Amino acid sequence: MRSIRRGDTGVAVSEIRSILVGLELLAEADPDVFDEALETAVRAFQQSRGLGIDGMVGDETWGALDAARWRLGSRALFHSVPDALVGEDVRSLQERLLEMGFDAGRPDAVYGGRTARAVAQFQREVGLVPDGSCGPQTVKALRRLGRKVVGGRPQWLREAEAFRQSGPNLVGKTIVIDPGHGGGDDTGVVVPDGPLRWNEADLVFDLASRLEGRLSAAGMRVHLTRGPSPAAPMSGAERAALANTLGADLLISLHLDGHESESAEGVASYHYGTGNGLSSTVGERLANLVQREIVVRTGMHDCRTHAKTWDLLRLTRMPTVRVDLGYLTSPADRERLIDPMFREQIVEALLAAVQRMYFPVERDVPTGSIDVRQLRLALADKS
Ligand SMILES: [Zn+2]
Repeated sequence: MRSIRRGDTGVAVSEIRSILVGLELLAEADPDVFDEALETAVRAFQQSRGLGIDGMVGDETWGALDAARWRLGSRALFHSVPDALVGEDVRSLQERLLEMGFDAGRPDAVYGGRTARAVAQFQREVGLVPDGSCGPQTVKALRRLGRKVVGGRPQWLREAEAFRQSGPNLVGKTIVIDPGHGGGDDTGVVVPDGPLRWNEADLVFDLASRLEGRLSAAGMRVHLTRGPSPAAPMSGAERAALANTLGADLLISLHLDGHESESAEGVASYHYGTGNGLSSTVGERLANLVQREIVVRTGMHDCRTHAKTWDLLRLTRMPTVRVDLGYLTSPADRERLIDPMFREQIVEALLAAVQRMYFPVERDVPTGSIDVRQLRLALADKS
C-alpha cells in the first residue's frame, strides 16, 4: 500500500491516531488529519519499535501499529493454526517467559507452538492446568511472578549453544544470501551518473553472486533469495519465510544506503534486537564480525552495528545480519562500489566473517587476519 503521510485524511488516519493515543504517544484523538503532532508520534513509535524512522505509515509501520493495540491480558492468547495470533501482547508474554527461563523461542510477537509449550511448562510449574493458552489466570500468575524472577537471556544462550554444537566446519552448512530489493520497480537507491544509472538492486545482486561462488567453493550450501531480475518485489517477511523453509544456518542480507546529503557515507550492520535489551547474541556476533571485517579490510567509514526489529531480522530463525555496504549517493563510496575489484574485497570480508562465526570464540582470530584463500586448509585443520 502507499504510505500514509502528513496531509492525508480519512479513516486510516483516525485509526492510526487512536492506536497512538492508546499507546500514550499522542495526547488526544482529535481531527482525522495527519498533522504535525501525529507525525511526531509516528516517529516516536517507529523509534521505540526499532523501525526505520520516516514519520510515515507504510506496510511495516502499519503492521507494528496493528500489533501494538494488544496489551497483555486484553484478550485470551492461544496457539491458533494456521493463522497464528500476532501482537505486542504476545511479545510481552514471550519476554516474560524468557526472563523466567522458559524456552518461548525468539520474542517475535507470534504465538506459535514453541510459545504454547513454554506457557504449558510455566502453567505446570505454578499449578495451573497446562493447556498452553494464556487466559486471565495465567496472566495473573505471570504478573505475580514475572517481576521477581530475573534471569539472563536463556533464549539467546540456547541459540548460541545450538550454533556452537553445529561445529566449526563450513562444509554442508546452509547459508542464504539476500540481495535487497529487485523485482518490478523496486530498484532500491538509484543514482544517475552521466549516461549511466547505478542502482542498488543490481549492485547487491552482483555482490551476492560473487559471495555465492566463494561460499560454495568453501563447501557451503548457498541459496539466493532472488535472481537478477525477479518478476515482483519481495517483502522482508517473504525473504525470511524462504530462509526458514530452507532451514538455513545463517542469513546475510545485502543493501546499499542512500541519503539526500552527499557527505553521508560508510557501512552499517543490523541484527535482531528490541529496545528492551533483548537481542540475538549470535546475530549480534555475526553483525559485529561482518562490520569489523569490512571496516578493517576496506577502510570504509564505520557506521557501527545496530539492533532493529525489521521483519527480515525478527522472523528468521537463524542468525541474520543485514549490512548496508556504503552510500550509493556518496561520491567516495560510489566510486569504490562500482569497481569490481573493490566488490571482491567486500566479498572477502564477508567470507572471513562467516568463517569466524564457526571458530569457537576462544579460538577466534584478529580482524583482517584470515587469508580467505587458506580457508579450506584452516577448515581441514579444525575438523
Ligand atoms: Zn536497500
